[in-house]
Amino acid sequence: MDRSIIKCDFLMNLSNKRLVLPGDHLSSYEEAEPGENSYGELDEVYSCAVGQFEEAGGKAAVKSPGRVLEKPRVGMEVYCVVKRTSPSKALLLCMPAAEVEGKGRGLSFDAALPVNGIKNAYVKEVSDEVRIGDIIRAKVRAITSKGVDVSTVSVDCGVVHAFCVRCRNPLAAVGSGYACGECGNKEQRKSAQGQNKPLI
Ligand SMILES: [Zn+2]
Repeated sequence: MDRSIIKCDFLMNLSNKRLVLPGDHLSSYEEAEPGENSYGELDEVYSCAVGQFEEAGGKAAVKSPGRVLEKPRVGMEVYCVVKRTSPSKALLLCMPAAEVEGKGRGLSFDAALPVNGIKNAYVKEVSDEVRIGDIIRAKVRAITSKGVDVSTVSVDCGVVHAFCVRCRNPLAAVGSGYACGECGNKEQRKSAQGQNKPLI
């Protein structure tokens, strides 16, 4: 075989087997649409996984060893840690429930829990129902250009692990609220029914 053809094949393979990381640019929408483990933003396609870049059939995909990585989608169940709260929303770091429960793989992402997405009743301030450091189970409600919004309105969503705001000790569910075994502090949360099992 012509050596130049072999060299050409080798170079083609090299460029086809490019290792990409989450956030790496894969192509423009004109060249290819997002496929497996990739997403589109502002007419460009990016990777959301570590893996091998592949472009075929008009789709830019990233082949990842093991199972397909789940990316945020509306309805996805997530576990989150509350990083910050303001009166109108809580800022969370989320992980797909499938990853936490060992049934799939996913990447963590930031999301907001708006005060009107906490429960099916009026909540004046986020800190009435959710506090910093709590671990909550939630569902992705919307994905917009501003980011991901989650909701804990479902009965199986809400706080799964609450921590005392005074001493950071894990709180125990007592009646319809929570109590701290260390300092006796009593607190309130929107709790997730049937989900108060240890994660860690
Ligand atoms: Zn306490």
